[in-house]
Amino acid sequence: AKGNGRGRFSFYSSDLHQAAEIRRALEDDLRDALARGEMELRYQPVVNAKSNMVTGVEALVRWTHPDRGVISPGVFIPIAEEANLIWPLGEWVLRKACEDAVNWPGETRVAVNVSPIQFANEDLPKIVASALATTGLAPDRLELEITESVFLGDSADTAKMFKALNALGVRLALDDFGTGYSSLSYLQTAPFDKIKIDQSFVRDATVPGSRNGAIIAAIVALAEALEMETTAEGIESLDQLELIRKLNVSHVQGYVYSKPVRHTELLEHAEAGSWIIKPAG
Ligand code: C2E
Ligand code: CA
Ligand code: CA
Ligand code: CA
Repeated sequence: AKGNGRGRFSFYSSDLHQAAEIRRALEDDLRDALARGEMELRYQPVVNAKSNMVTGVEALVRWTHPDRGVISPGVFIPIAEEANLIWPLGEWVLRKACEDAVNWPGETRVAVNVSPIQFANEDLPKIVASALATTGLAPDRLELEITESVFLGDSADTAKMFKALNALGVRLALDDFGTGYSSLSYLQTAPFDKIKIDQSFVRDATVPGSRNGAIIAAIVALAEALEMETTAEGIESLDQLELIRKLNVSHVQGYVYSKPVRHTELLEHAEAGSWIIKPAG
């Protein structure tokens, strides 16, 4: 058993070693990625479940690496967070998203993901204010998406940050709701306008015997009582859409309406002055 164990160990450790090398290489490349123009935004419509009207659009960052091709934010955002690169990247995303959103019809909002690392930095309100000022976007057209993990930090600092962001007049959405390890007590004070129901609750909701429909119904009841909107994420099929509508979720985001697309493609939806998308399963 000892020999086997050793063999396994060295295999495992060389795997780990390789993963660490790739990570270090990516971290180095990430330092130059912004300056080289390798970062791009994709936009995914958020649709009113009843009217099919686009009410908002989420900005999702993509990195086209010169050798490795397109790298998912699920891979490079954690690296950026650890390497202290999330700050310039986050600021770039915010500015670019606000700049593009100025061109969208009417009241359409832009949603920008904010890393807990950004949220913990007291300069965040200044950066947000400056992005709004330079682009001329009205504050209530910007929605910051924050995850429950921000409530694991110092609660006085967290409260102060919410107050400062609220004072700017931007909207706040609670992302990936129900997937963190946080308690619900933060809902007593945190001023969220919207709860985003994580796609893990949606995925099996239409499967017979699934409890996820009941969980989604409970989240909707909670949100309605607290006067918050709801968005169901990751809706892929017409069956899921039908269920989500039945459960009174107010907004929908997912491939059934649109994948995240380039800005030019997003604007095609708006061309005829219509900002309505037909679902397709
Ligand atoms: P998220 O904020 O929960 O974003 C939703 C993710 O679900 C996106 O993945 C989106 O492309 C994907 N998605 C949307 N509709 C569907 C669907 O119908 N089916 C399936 N299977 N997936 C769908 P993406 O773009 O890979 O982003 C992953 C995560 O990376 C995001 O999760 C967010 O946490 C983070 N992220 C993306 N852009 C940024 C950013 O600019 N800043 C920060 N801090 N994080 C970002
Ligand atoms: Ca998000
Ligand atoms: Ca999410
Ligand atoms: Ca997520």
